[in-house]
Amino acid sequence: MDYRYPPEAEAFRQQVRGWLEENLTDEVKGLDNRGDIEPDDLLILKGWNKKLAEERMVAISWPEEFGGRAAGVMDQVVLAEEMHRVGAPGPLNPIGLNNIAPSIMTYGTEEQKEQYLKPMLSGEHIWCQGFSEPEAGSDLASLRTRAVEDGDDFVINGQKVWNTLGHYADYCELLVRTDPDAPKHAGISCLLIDMKTPGIDVRPLTTMTGAKEFAEIFFEDVRVPKSALLGPLNQGWMVAMNTLSNERAGIANLHLGVRRKIAGLIDEAKSRVVDGKPLTENPVVRSRLAKAYMMGEMQKAVGDVSIAGAANGEPPGAESSIVKICWTEIEHLVAETSAAVLGADALTDRWGDNRLYTRATSIAGGTTQVNRNIVARRVLGLPKG
Ligand SMILES: Cc1cc2nc3c(=O)[nH]c(=O)nc-3n(C[C@H](O)[C@H](O)[C@H](O)COP(=O)(O)OP(=O)(O)OC[C@H]3O[C@@H](n4cnc5c(N)ncnc54)[C@H](O)[C@@H]3O)c2cc1C
Repeated sequence: MDYRYPPEAEAFRQQVRGWLEENLTDEVKGLDNRGDIEPDDLLILKGWNKKLAEERMVAISWPEEFGGRAAGVMDQVVLAEEMHRVGAPGPLNPIGLNNIAPSIMTYGTEEQKEQYLKPMLSGEHIWCQGFSEPEAGSDLASLRTRAVEDGDDFVINGQKVWNTLGHYADYCELLVRTDPDAPKHAGISCLLIDMKTPGIDVRPLTTMTGAKEFAEIFFEDVRVPKSALLGPLNQGWMVAMNTLSNERAGIANLHLGVRRKIAGLIDEAKSRVVDGKPLTENPVVRSRLAKAYMMGEMQKAVGDVSIAGAANGEPPGAESSIVKICWTEIEHLVAETSAAVLGADALTDRWGDNRLYTRATSIAGGTTQVNRNIVARRVLGLPKG
């Protein structure tokens, strides 16, 4: 099912297609901008990111003054589709661009906007999000990392965890407790900090796949100027909610990745012969592939509902939780289907990594249980459990 794309979006598609044909080189194609990035690949990806930024193809929804195109949601959909179609890596800074920048635009001072947005766009500065702590994940407002005012500075002590790109990051959007006596949502502030500040210790975390995708960050008497404050003192919860709502707005395009995996599995099945027979004649494999295909199309359909809402100017709502839950379940289904189709080959290489990695989809960006609670309360109108 496809919604109709307006003619302007189709015209933009042709523009993007032409530009990618001219500029996407084999060296860049297919490089992963996630996980362990080899130093040589990082240089190539930085160059690619810079090129995208010069063409204003990085964060097209951003206002023109910051290097965007003030583009609407349909152009954003088109750009994501076209980049995916040809295997072009996205920008290096997904968290900075999608989550942190909108908060800087909303709550930042003119100096903060001037200092941070353009280098973030060009990939010169990589950002991470320092929210979760060992005792504060779903219940984020329980965070304990402290920032104490001392003259013109804040002095920070504490620990963050699961910080995607933390070990590559130049800057961090950090949530800290500035008033321990206030109710827990009211004593939090948001700081923008330079990761090279003395007293910061970043330790990469190795995941089940062996990749180092995120880090834990320790703060010991880290001194940052008060100008690091983003938004008002003790109103960091408001800033954090803005950051997280931007994260959720991006999930409508999740079907692109999962449908590409399903297409890959169908191709694998077509090319394999097991016990002298083409795998595509095996009724169990056919049934599993058909189910995965249908679920992938369903993911696009629920994503389309969310995009239609955005195109009509509606703010992201509880339907984002439905999109996220469906995506998680389909990612798990694709991982199981890969085992049915590939047998032992599903344990190694990219399919093996995928089977392990998909476990994280039920946690990242809000856990399945927390999203089900949101659907129960806001969509079904059920009382708090
Ligand atoms: C791939 C990935 C990338 C991440 N990137 C970042 C990042 O860049 N920055 C950052 O700050 N954090 C990041 N995180 C952390 C992520 O935000 C947290 O893992 C998430 O919020 C859950 O917190 P937790 O791990 O502490 O689990 P907990 O909140 O302790 O949850 C444990 C279990 O209890 C369940 N649960 C919790 N509360 C409820 C409830 N009210 N009702 C029902 N069940 C409940 C959960 O669903 C889960 O099953 C990332 C996580 C992953 C997996």
